[in-house]
Parts: sequence; C-alpha cells; structure tokens
Amino acid sequence: MKQKETLLNIQLNGEKIELSDTLIDDMGDNHVSTSVDTPMRADAFVLSDDQKIDVIAKHFTAIMETLGLDLTDDSLKGTPKRVAKMYVKEIFSGLNPANKPKMAMFDNKYQYNQMLVEKNISFYSNCEHHFVPIIGKAHVAYISNGTVVGLSKLNRLVQFFAKRPQVQERLNMQIGKELQKALGTDDVAVLIDAKHLCVASRGVEDNTSSTITAFYGGKFQEDKTREEFLKYIEFKTEF
Ligand SMILES: [Zn+2]
Repeated sequence: MKQKETLLNIQLNGEKIELSDTLIDDMGDNHVSTSVDTPMRADAFVLSDDQKIDVIAKHFTAIMETLGLDLTDDSLKGTPKRVAKMYVKEIFSGLNPANKPKMAMFDNKYQYNQMLVEKNISFYSNCEHHFVPIIGKAHVAYISNGTVVGLSKLNRLVQFFAKRPQVQERLNMQIGKELQKALGTDDVAVLIDAKHLCVASRGVEDNTSSTITAFYGGKFQEDKTREEFLKYIEFKTEF
C-alpha cells in the first residue's frame, strides 16, 4: 500500500498531486498489466492535455537546441509547441482511454449470421522504438452472435489503437481483443499489413517490404473460415 501511494504521488511545478480514487479505478480497469496492454505509468493521466503539451514543448525545444537548431528563426519557432500538440491531441491521443470510441451495438435484425468483413481500413501509427510512422491497412472481420456494430466503429477502433506508440503485433492484438469484448464473440479476425518507416527510411532502408500480422479468434481458427476471410480481402500488399 505504501509503495502504491508513492507511485501515485507526482510533482507538478513543485506541487504534490494525488490521484483520486475514481481515477485510480478507471486506470485499473483500463490498464491491467498483460502483455497485450500498452505499458503505461500509474500517473499517466495526472496531467491535463494542456499541461502535457507545455511540458513536451519544453523538452522538444531542448532536443532541437541540442541538435544545434536556432529556435529564434521564424520557421522553427513554433515547432516545439506544434509537435507537442500533435503528440497529445492527434498521433498519441489513443493512449487516453477517454478517447476510446463508444462501441454502440445493435440487434442483428436481419439474422445475418455470415461473416462481415471491413477491408482496407487505412491507419497511421508510430513505432514505439523509433517514433517514426507505421503506415498500414487493417482488415477486420467478425461473425455476429446476435449483435452488430456500426461499420464506422470498426474504423474508429483501428484508429484509436493506432494512435499510440506501437509495435504491430500489439496493435493487432489490441484491436482483435477489444472487438471480441465489444461483440461478445470469439469469432473475430484482424489482419494488418503495414510498412514501417524505421525499416524503409533508415536502418536497412528497405522501401519495398511490409509486415503482416494476423489475429484469428474462434471460428477463424478453422481453415475454411479463415480462407473465406482471406478470399474476401483479396489479400495482397499494396499502398
Ligand atoms: Zn522502429
């Protein structure tokens, strides 16, 4: 207990801040430590978005100055704040569970019990090892067990998990598991085909390779169902 309290007290501008019980509960709900979850600090949401933007802007200023850039130049002046805002409000906004799309469910009135496939969902993520883009497409499928989800929610769920520092395997698992939970069925498939700019633009500088990962739950573990899914998405690598 003592240790937990120490963990959850942080200093902001010299002022000690303690987390409320509700926030701690929320975090417990959303950040149970398993290998599938993004590793998050206990104090991840103590700062507001605006406070985070201020802190990141300061640090980014230091990075740019260390690189030798002159921040009094008109073109560079606004960059630290711009980057900070982009991190918090856009490309890493999926770290905050508050931004998770609400997965409203509907009755499957048509009794459509076949496979539903949403293919070519494009997304941008960032590699957590280099903080450079991962550009890819996700193909998502499920077999309804009585409820269906609005189609755009599938796209939004992919975008939400993509907007984190990621590794592709985890991104793939997070989308698959969340869909299983929301739809109340194991019969979910998610295939991701993505290009990692840390491979393409630096390092080995391979601009043609892409990485494929797949999550197959329930019936999708059977050859026949999986083959049907792969046929529907006409699986081929293309950007
Ligand atoms: Zn990387």
